[in-house]
Amino acid sequence: MPIEPFEILAIRYAHLGNRHPGENLILADPHEFASDLDYFVWVLRRVDCSFVVDTGFGKPAAARRKREWLRCPAESLGLLGMDAARVSDVILTHMHYDHAGNLDRFPRARFHLQDDEMAFATGRCMCHQAMRAPFDLENTLEMVRRVYSEKAVFHKGDAELVPGLTLHRVGGHSAGLQILRVWTRRGWVIVASDASHLYANFEQGRCFPIVYNVAEMLEGFKLLYRLADSPEHIVPGHDPLVMKSYPAASPELEDIVVRLAVPPSRR
Ligand SMILES: [Zn+2]
Ligand SMILES: [Zn+2]
Repeated sequence: MPIEPFEILAIRYAHLGNRHPGENLILADPHEFASDLDYFVWVLRRVDCSFVVDTGFGKPAAARRKREWLRCPAESLGLLGMDAARVSDVILTHMHYDHAGNLDRFPRARFHLQDDEMAFATGRCMCHQAMRAPFDLENTLEMVRRVYSEKAVFHKGDAELVPGLTLHRVGGHSAGLQILRVWTRRGWVIVASDASHLYANFEQGRCFPIVYNVAEMLEGFKLLYRLADSPEHIVPGHDPLVMKSYPAASPELEDIVVRLAVPPSRR
């Protein structure tokens, strides 16, 4: 039986400008281009199932960290006819503050994450400010509550959630970071999340400076190429070019939601 293809939607919910090159690339030349960052959550859906990928951050975290908060990621699901309160499955690519906030908005959901990520977020590495900085304690506590109420689904390495959707542990940027391989009408698309913040990271083999293990991050770039049908099938986690390269989900959702299951325009 042929696998039913997924639709993949990227919802842009926040933005950060005025970056220095060294904030995007280790060993950057201070004079080179420094991309802004966009912040996304993603939706995978087809007739028989749907998944929300990451949950973003709320307004208080945006104010604390001085990010431009454009809209609530959970409420934005309403733009796609979905209700966060009824979502059954959320995939957390990792537990950084910009990917794992707002958990209380998903009361029915099971949360899929890697063993390594939960251990990382609650273990000895969090004794170091440099490792802890991208985490938000309240988010971690919320996730611990979900472990205790049996709402966590742990994965170790690769896992198939349904035919046409697999998770792959990459590590690198965070100890248990995972990426998604998704079957679509244009073939296998990789939702890379922070395995590559920007196109420049994986295309040029240059690491983002928030990193747990540099060697794993570099191996992760290779894995993206291996799992994707082509480089055009790799979608980075924070690159503003994503909004420019893919079509809006509808005219009303221009600059808010783009469709990743169709080929990108040339960059
Ligand atoms: Zn991250
Ligand atoms: Zn991120």
